Amino acid sequence: MEVTSLQNGIIIDHVPAGTALKVLEYLKVDPSRTKIALIMNADSKRYGTKDIIKIEGMADDRIDLDVLGLVARNATVGIVRDGSIVKKLTPTLPQHVSGVIRCPNPRCVTSTERDVRQGFHLVTLNGHQEYRCDYCDEEAKF
Ligand SMILES: [Zn+2]
Repeated sequence: MEVTSLQNGIIIDHVPAGTALKVLEYLKVDPSRTKIALIMNADSKRYGTKDIIKIEGMADDRIDLDVLGLVARNATVGIVRDGSIVKKLTPTLPQHVSGVIRCPNPRCVTSTERDVRQGFHLVTLNGHQEYRCDYCDEEAKF
């Protein structure tokens, strides 16, 4: 498998189009200190358009698959060594997450009270999976 330009690092493919920067932010990757190549709005056979993120030199254990599951659940992660993909990882969908995303509901107790920890749980509705706030049941937005 050929991977242009990346020697050792990580390729995150099938990121929803236009969300690559947000995904980097959630993964706590600092674009000013990391060698990153972004391809935005590339053609995708599966989803129309997609973003691709290439991160040079990033160790595979630094990628948080739970966080990736939240923001880009259809993404695929390729681990690149010496210019080729040696391993593929897929995001996980955790049953529960806390401290990663904020509740979008301004009246939620986690928005009005400082000491309440944000928490979201996974809900499956008609085969569609989404995260809802532990306190007010508002759907998570990214
Ligand atoms: Zn809430």
